[in-house]
Amino acid sequence: MPKFNLDIRCQLENVKEFVPASIQTFEWRIKFRCTGCNEERDTFRVVTIGEKFPQSNSRGESNLVETCNFCGNKGTVDILEKAASFPYCEGDSGQFKSVCTLDCRGLEPVNFDFGHGYCVYASHSSQKFSDVDLSEKEWTDYDEIAKESIGIMELEHKFVRK
Ligand SMILES: [Zn+2]
Repeated sequence: MPKFNLDIRCQLENVKEFVPASIQTFEWRIKFRCTGCNEERDTFRVVTIGEKFPQSNSRGESNLVETCNFCGNKGTVDILEKAASFPYCEGDSGQFKSVCTLDCRGLEPVNFDFGHGYCVYASHSSQKFSDVDLSEKEWTDYDEIAKESIGIMELEHKFVRK
C-alpha cells in the first residue's frame, strides 16, 4: 500500500516545542482524492489514531473507511502510530519534519488542515499553553513568566510519497 509522510515546517518564536495534546485522540484533518476516478473530495475528513472502523470486504480495521460516491472505489487510511514523530522542536524551526505516516489504499492525501488540540511549551519558562488552535497557520500569545511574546508562524505542510 502506498505510504505518505506528512511533513510540516514553521518558524518558532520562544517556543521549545509543540505537540498534539493526545496522539490517540488528536484529530488529523485531511482532504483526499480517490485514486479510482481522481475526484477530489470537497471536505476534510477527521482521522484519529485511536478510532478504527471495520473494512467493508475484509476482517481488517482502518482509521478511515469509505466508498467513493462517483466510482465505487473502496478506500482505507491508517495513521501509523509508531511513525508519529511529534514534537516539533526548537531545533526543527524552519525545516520540514515528518510528523506522521499515512498508509493509504484507494485514496491519496491532497491537503491538510492543522486544526486544533496542540500543547505548546515555552522556551524560557515553565509556561504551557493548552488546546492551541493552528487552523489559521499561525498562533501568537504572551509568556507571562518569561515576559516575552511567543508564537508559531508560517506553518506549511507537504505530503511526500514514500
Ligand atoms: Zn472514485
